[in-house]
Parts: sequence; structure tokens; C-alpha cells
Amino acid sequence: MNQRVVTILGATGSIGLNTLDVVRRHPQRFSVYALTAGTRAEELAQLCREFRPQVAVMADSGAAKRLETLLADLPETRVLAGEQGLCEVAASSESDTVMAAIVGAAGLAPTLSAVRAGKRVLLANKEALVMSGQLFMDAVAESGAELLPIDSEHNAIFQCMPPSQVRNPHGAGITRILLTASGGPFRTMSADRLQHVTPAQACAHPNWSMGRKISVDSATLMNKGLELIEACWLFNTTPEFVDVHVHPESIIHSMVEYADGSVLAQLGSPDMRTPIANGLAWPERIDAGVAPLDLFSIGRFHFERPDTDRFPCLRLAADAFAEGGTSPAVLNAANEIAVAAFLEGRLPFTRIPVIIEQTLASTESVPARSFETIFAKDAEARARAREHIALVAV
Ligand code: NAD
Ligand code: MG
Repeated sequence: MNQRVVTILGATGSIGLNTLDVVRRHPQRFSVYALTAGTRAEELAQLCREFRPQVAVMADSGAAKRLETLLADLPETRVLAGEQGLCEVAASSESDTVMAAIVGAAGLAPTLSAVRAGKRVLLANKEALVMSGQLFMDAVAESGAELLPIDSEHNAIFQCMPPSQVRNPHGAGITRILLTASGGPFRTMSADRLQHVTPAQACAHPNWSMGRKISVDSATLMNKGLELIEACWLFNTTPEFVDVHVHPESIIHSMVEYADGSVLAQLGSPDMRTPIANGLAWPERIDAGVAPLDLFSIGRFHFERPDTDRFPCLRLAADAFAEGGTSPAVLNAANEIAVAAFLEGRLPFTRIPVIIEQTLASTESVPARSFETIFAKDAEARARAREHIALVAV
């Protein structure tokens, strides 16, 4: 049995808690070195009591002080604060496996820190890879980090490929990746009605229970746009080889087509513990606590083409990838700001793609030569997006 010492970046989130659920089922196999969170000190304190990590990190310094007080009777857990603390635990030689499950661009620096330290990196934080693409993959190659996809679609694709050919799929006779999408909660809603949808409706995903940001991304199809870019980097391919198939049942998590006409698919209940357990134990298989698939009760599978008229975010993402340079980082930053504004009731749902398009148009794309360039563009795009949002009357 392969024993692993795990650090979870974003332990209090949806992916973080699912990871801890898998860890909890295998106390002989997994131990926890560090747990981190953004602001929720009380929730992290509770997790520390159960998993007894050596280090706990709060990104927010006020929250770190609260955590220290809450854990005063737990001297074995050291409390750190800020991005520096996150990067320190991600790179620590005390752990060999890092779950990158912070949401958004905030996850890039700590995830990169784990990559540079040559860890097994379980990548849920797709935004980090979307922002920095080539530089991120170069850092993986340089350090010899083991990058395993946790996004359910990418984990499915990974499972349907010969392991040695993941970075050279065309050499393996792969002709196409079929990236499945649920279509989100508004798949069948008219363009008119889309204008009035609320954050609560957007966050009520039909098949998956997820954090609020990714739930909105699923509803706009930006999640599929980010995943298209993610697939191109992970599997060293281009968007022409990635075909998005809307599959509302969310049972087939993606497929890989081969030159001989074979199409391999990975199926399972929509439960993130499956890809998480796959990454944690790879190449072994372990119980993830997931209910067995009952195909008789599901009965039928459906497939549709995505509608990029009602959901332009998928097209915006493909265009940003084609544009290259810092465009995907700008797309991601504008999306984060627009989604936050929508969630706070300051921006109508259908304005999210408009803000992203305006931000892309008003922020010059430059070659992504360094991470510093990317972080600077991310900041510039956030400022631009806020200006565009300020002009929208709700
Ligand atoms: P979430 O909002 O539930 O959790 C986010 C975690 O990140 C929390 O622990 C939070 O404390 C932490 N965090 C937030 N802001 C932070 C900051 N500025 N600095 C440090 N930590 C911060 O999100 P989630 O749904 O678990 O998603 C996490 C990542 O995984 C996202 O990138 C998402 O796209 C990806 N992902 C999620 C799912 C899913 O089913 N939830 C599926 C595929 C991919
Ligand atoms: Mg996904």
C-alpha cells in the first residue's frame, strides 16, 4: 500500500471536505500534514481537531489570529498566515501530496509552490492552470512534479488514456477528446428569462454540489470554457481536438476517441470523491464512499451541442486561448470579478459575458513570459472589470 502525507489547500471548501472524507476512510494510507482555508477559522479549527495536522494556515491574518485562539489547547498544530504560509506548507518536505483546491487565482502561487517542490499535485484549482498555461506546465516538467487532474472531466480523460501518453495523445492514436458538460441549471431556459435569474438559482446545480463560484461558472458555461483550456494544457492538445458534448445526466464524465473508432468513456455517479480518490491513490484503486452506479434507474443518456448564443462564455474562453499570451489570465480575472458582482446582486447574470468581453477588449494581451507578467495582468484586468461593472445599472 502506497502511504501518503497530504496537504489540503482549501480544506474547508467543497473539494477540500470531499478530500478529507476520502482521507478519513483510509487512516492507514493517508495522514494530514497541513490544512488551509481563506477566512473561516471556526470551520478549519473543527477540521484540525479531527485530523490533527502539524500546520494550519489561514490566508486572512485576522482569521489566523482567531484560529490560534481556537486551537490554544492543540499545541501540536502550528498556525501560519497569509500567502507566504500557504506557499510554505505547499512546498514543505514533510508532505508528498498536495490537493490544490483553493478557488480562483488566489490558488496559483501556492499551487505553483507545490509544483516547484516536485510534489504529487492533485489539481482541482483549474484557474491556476488557465491563467499560466505554458509556464505552469514548464514548471511541472522542470521539477518532475506529478500532476494529476481532479476536475471530473479531466480525470475521466486521464483514465481513458494510456498513462505514458497523457502528454502525447496524438502519438497514442487519439483523434478526439469528448469533453462532457451538464449544461448547468439554465440549459433549457430562454434568453429572455436568463436575464432575471438569481444567485440562488444559479447555485442550485442539478447534478453536482459545489462552491458558489464554480456553480455560477457551470451556469454560464464558463466552467466548460475554463475546462477546454485546462484540457489543452494537461493533454498537450488544441481546441480543435476537444469537442464539448452537453450530457445532462452527468454520468459520463468525458470520453476519448481513438483512430480505430473506439471511444473510451469513464462513467460514475456525479460525486467528486471518485476523481479525488483516483488521484490520491493513483495508480491504485480505493473505496471512495461513492454509491455504485445504477444504470437501470438512469435509463437513458442524452447529448446536445452547446448553445454559445445563450452561453457566450464558452466561445470567449476558446477565443482567449487562441489569442494566447495573457488573454486567458485576463478572461479568468474578469470572470472572477463579474461572478462576484453577480453573487452580490450587483450584476445581472447575462452581463457576466459582456463584462468579460469588455475587459478582454480593454486590456492589452502581451506574451506571458513570466509569472510576474501574469500576476500584473490579473490585477490590471480586475481593475478594468470593476470599471465596466460600475457603469452597469442593476
Ligand atoms: P469552495 O468555494 O467550496 O472552496 C474554496 C476553498 O478555498 C475554501 O477552503 C476557501 O477557504 C479557500 N479560499 C477561498 N479564497 C481563498 C484565498 N483568497 N486564499 C486562500 N484560500 C482561499 O470551492 P470548491 O467548489 O471547493 O472549488 C475549489 C476549486 O476546485 C475551484 O478551482 C473549482 O473550479 C475546482 N473544482 C471544484 C469542483 C467541485 O465539485 N466543487 C469540481 C471541479 C473543480
Ligand atoms: Mg469539471
